[in-house]
Formats: sequence, C-alpha cells, structure tokens
Amino acid sequence: MTKIRVKTPIVEMDGDEMTRVIWARIKDQLILPYLDIDLEYYDLSVMHRDETDDRVTFDSAHATLRHGVAVKCATITPNDDRVTEFGLKRQWPSPNGTIRSIMDGTVFRKPITLTNIPAAVKAWKRPITIARHAFGDIYRDKEILVDRPGSVELTFRPADGSPPVTQVVNTFSGGAPTGVTMAMFNTDASIRSFAQACFTYAIGERCDIWFNTKDTISKTYHARFRDLFAEEAKVRADAMASAGITYSYFLIDDAVAQVMKNPGGHLWACMNYDGDVLSDMVAAGFGSLGLMTSVLVNPDGKYEYEAAHGTVTRHFRRHERGEETSTNSVASIFAWTGAVARRGLLDGTPDVVAFAQALEKSVIDTIEGGTMTRDLLALTTSPDPKGVDTWAFMDAVAASLADHL
Ligand code: NAP
Ligand code: MG
Repeated sequence: MTKIRVKTPIVEMDGDEMTRVIWARIKDQLILPYLDIDLEYYDLSVMHRDETDDRVTFDSAHATLRHGVAVKCATITPNDDRVTEFGLKRQWPSPNGTIRSIMDGTVFRKPITLTNIPAAVKAWKRPITIARHAFGDIYRDKEILVDRPGSVELTFRPADGSPPVTQVVNTFSGGAPTGVTMAMFNTDASIRSFAQACFTYAIGERCDIWFNTKDTISKTYHARFRDLFAEEAKVRADAMASAGITYSYFLIDDAVAQVMKNPGGHLWACMNYDGDVLSDMVAAGFGSLGLMTSVLVNPDGKYEYEAAHGTVTRHFRRHERGEETSTNSVASIFAWTGAVARRGLLDGTPDVVAFAQALEKSVIDTIEGGTMTRDLLALTTSPDPKGVDTWAFMDAVAASLADHL
C-alpha cells in the first residue's frame, strides 16, 4: 500500500509513563504505516525536561507557532514526590502551562460520544465542548481576612497622575474576625484573545457558540466580558454565516438550565471560575476521562491536540511490574487524528483528512461493536461487552482500520 503524503510537518511532543508507552504504539501501529509524515519530535518526558532545564518545552511551543499543528502526549507535572522520584534539579512548572502561555492559547475540552456509552444527561446526544478562560478573576485575586472593625476601599491610582478613583467596599464593625474581602481583575487583551480563540475554534468546527456571565449583578466586570464577546461576534459575523453557526449570549443561570435540555454539539465558552466548575461537570456527565480530548487553540489558529487525562501512573506501575493493564487509548488516538485532520485542512489535502476520519471511525466502530477497555464496561449499554487489555483494544482498532481503508 502506498502511504499518504502529509505536506507540512506536525510537531510531536512525547510524554511520560503509561501514555508514553501507548503513544509509541499508536505511532507504530496506527499512524506511520499509513502516513508519510514529517514529525518534528520533542521529548517532553520529565527527565529530558530536566536535562534541558525545560528548554525543550519552550522549543516545542515555538515549533508549534511555526508549523501550526502539534500533538502532545500527557506529561508529568512535578510535585515534591516527583522531584525525589526522578532526582530532578528543580520542580519544573507544568509543561501545559508553559505551552499555553507561549501560544497565548485557550483550551477546548471535547468528549468523544458513542451510541453505546450514553451521557448521564439524557438530552445530551452530541459533544459539548467547553472553553475556559484561563486567566485572572479569583485565580489572581488578593484576599484579606478582616479580623477587626475597619473599612475596605478599592482604589485605582492612574499612572498619568490624574486623580485616583476610590470606592468603599464595606465598613466592618463588631467582633473579630468580622469578615473577608477580596479584589480581582482581568484585562481587555486577555478577554479579547479568549474571545478570538473561541470564535476561531467554533468557525473551524462549525459549531454554535454560547457565552454567559452574571452581568445582571456584575454590571461593569462581567458586562465587560459580554461586550468584548459581542464585539468579536460582530467582527466574525460573515465567517460565522458562511460556517452556518450562531452566537448566543445567556445569563449563566439560564445557560446552566438550558444545557440540561439541549442535545449539545455547541461550544460553551465560560469565564474562568465557571469553566473550572462546569468543565468537570460536563466531563463527568459524558462518562470517562479516557474519552475526553483537549485542544489548545491560539487566536491566530495554531493548534495543539492532546488527551485531557494525565499519564495514568497507577496503570504504569502495573505495566512496569509486567501485569496486565486496560488503559483507554481513545483520547490519545483522537489527539493524533485531531492533529492529522487539522494538518490536512490547513494544507488542503483531503486524503489526509479522510485518513484521520477513517481512524476515528475505526475506534468508534470497535467500541460500538462491543470491544472496549475495562473503564467503559460500567458505562456501556452494550448487552454483551468484551473488556480487553490495552493492547488487544489497539489491535482491534488496527484491524478495523485495515477494513476502512
Ligand atoms: P490521570 O493520569 O488522569 O489518572 C487518574 C485516574 O483516572 C487513573 O488512575 C485511572 O483510574 C483513570 N484514568 C485516567 N485516564 C485513563 C485512561 N486513559 N484509561 C483508563 N483510566 C484512566 O491523573 P493522575 O493520576 O492524577 O496524574 C498522573 C500524572 O499525570 C501526574 O504526574 C500529573 O502531573 C499528570 N497529568 C498530566 C496532564 C497532562 O499532561 N495534560 C493532565 C493531568 C495530569 P483507575 O486507576 O481507577 O483505573
Ligand atoms: Mg475544575
């Protein structure tokens, strides 16, 4: 069989533990036999990040800005235990955090939906993609425990010497401790870039956009988010019309009620705290971490695809001891198909897109046919499901792929 030529390189970011083992197998069994592809390889395993003083993470992010498409394996974010385990020079920051800030990107989490793995919410038939604004608000706030009577004021002191603006937040009286207070902020630049990434993603995926705040209560802060999204919607009106999609603004309460009755298929853009909470709700509602994909998109349309889960350490320990594992490889396979399909779209090579679609179909057919890793057994409606190990699942996908091509 002749391989399909992929015109432009894809940046490959390798990772750690169980996902690294699965990663190599995906490449060898499902990608390289079919695609003639230049992978610009960066080893983001924790040891190699340590050896390069984390240089490799920066390089991989800049390579993504250059080539436009990356696929990333899950990586260890070191904590104290990991520093000891690997004898690291220091507690390197989260690679995802580094890549996100270099790319100025927004993370979109999208579940893979299957007919025999129903969502917890009956109405949900199509994936709901969540976008969380990952900057500012309570995540960068300042808080004070007010432990005696006194007054709290909020002051903005302009750098140009014009008079300060002060508001009294509250005057506390009574016994100690008498309460709490906080101040938070966001920037137009960050909100705009979030909005741009959301519209870029939704137009690319041809899905409607929802955005929501509590602007009835927060008439300046939340209203700013509403207004900047509305501005971006105006700028993108023509592109949205040609993609056949709409933008809807809701009060957050209304959106939460609506989403329970809605079949899904939309992008749900959320402020930082809302996205933190609702992304976990949506992920749990769709079933398994092994079925949740994640893509980082920047405002200029550069994409980095990955699985939403971590390196599955517990399974890796079993694998190291030579014991059987049944780790779900679906989200990692979909990271590859997402990147390959995007590459094909950007390059204008429909045969590359078609290959990615065939691989996704092979995965879906395998599971809908009743063969799945054991994390899905408790969720499936299949009458006689077959729970298999990590490798037998991938063999089944490979066999199905051979039929699809
Ligand atoms: P995790 O790797 O997501 O795994 C947590 C548990 O969820 C697993 O033990 C397993 O449960 C289940 N699970 C997750 N993915 C699965 C899959 N594909 N198939 C089957 N079961 C799956 O989270 P963690 O154990 O908290 O973190 C491990 C490492 O990953 C940490 O070092 C962390 O820093 C890193 N991490 C990386 C990323 C990333 O790179 N994007 C994200 C999160 C965490 P059972 O054991 O019950 O089967
Ligand atoms: Mg959360």
